[in-house]
Amino acid sequence: MLQDSFGRRFYYLRLSVTDICNFRCNYCLPDGYQCGQSSARENPLSVVEVGTVVGAFASLGTEKVRLTGGEPSLRKDLEQLIETVKSVDGIGRVAITTNGYRLPMEIDAWQRAGLDQLNVSIDSLDPQQFRAITGHDKLDTILCGIDRALALGIPTKVNAVLLREHNFAEFNHFLEWIRVTPVSLRFIELMRTGDNRDFFASNHVAGSDIEKLLLRTGWEQVVRPRDAGPAKEYAHPDYAGRIGLIMPYSKDFCVSCNRLRMSAQGALHLCLFAEQGIDLRDAIGGGDHQALAEQIRAAVCGKNASHQLASGFTGATRNLAMLGG
Ligand code: SAM
Ligand code: SF4
Repeated sequence: MLQDSFGRRFYYLRLSVTDICNFRCNYCLPDGYQCGQSSARENPLSVVEVGTVVGAFASLGTEKVRLTGGEPSLRKDLEQLIETVKSVDGIGRVAITTNGYRLPMEIDAWQRAGLDQLNVSIDSLDPQQFRAITGHDKLDTILCGIDRALALGIPTKVNAVLLREHNFAEFNHFLEWIRVTPVSLRFIELMRTGDNRDFFASNHVAGSDIEKLLLRTGWEQVVRPRDAGPAKEYAHPDYAGRIGLIMPYSKDFCVSCNRLRMSAQGALHLCLFAEQGIDLRDAIGGGDHQALAEQIRAAVCGKNASHQLASGFTGATRNLAMLGG
């Protein structure tokens, strides 16, 4: 089992399959994806390499893999990637995080390929505001895709980054939506990255304030499985959906960390905000997942107790498109 020197166990791999994104979310890539943003951008892990990576992690006890990016649906071989991950012994669940722009066209095929769980990012339920935040007029398409995913029975989460100047006033609108829509709505606290310092200063909303509000209005925290992500989850008898709060600035956020990340170019990141990734591309290319597993096991011993976000240290992460959120 993969375990670090603080006794944390890692059941969950977040695997970026591309740095590239077609959206321009104002907190992430406000100027859109820039060629040259990462040196090896043209050369993401192939389907075979992804098989080797996931085989290595599975041999170390990983049970769940999330494909992320950039925008994973820009990969033409995404179905093959899902199939490959799903076919690895020991991997119980395959999830994807997407901006949803291809959802209505692709979700049936993704499910056939083995997708178990879907996360879609929707930062506003108002079409104009949605376009202002993302640069795209795609809210209706994405909502249709979510309806289809729910009709197919795919457990669906919706990610919304709360932004004081852009969508915070819509908080109640989001709540009304999940009164009737059975999705788990993740409010993600805006994280400061290398590229968004000024934006962060004017838009950060503390997740702890939202938590107090929920607890005052009848929402109750629910227990989650060991391969679950970092959200604290809440349910309310009057609502079809649930709420998850992702609060990276809360005191004990890192204590229960159960996930590792790999960049699209095969660098292992022990934390979203680590100083640098550990380049494992050569070992991955070698195709020997046992040898790769040994390198991963050794690297994990060096994982720090906590990120240093509260003191303004954002490590090598200039934006989350580089590594997946
Ligand atoms: N493009 C896909 C999407 O948007 O869902 C996947 C990659 S995106 C980096 C993954 C998640 O990270 C999204 O839900 C996004 O809203 C979130 N994210 C990006 N930058 C963030 C930041 N600075 N703080 C908090 N969440 C962020
Ligand atoms: Fe692209 Fe996702 Fe970043 Fe938006 S949050 S710019 S969709 S990577």
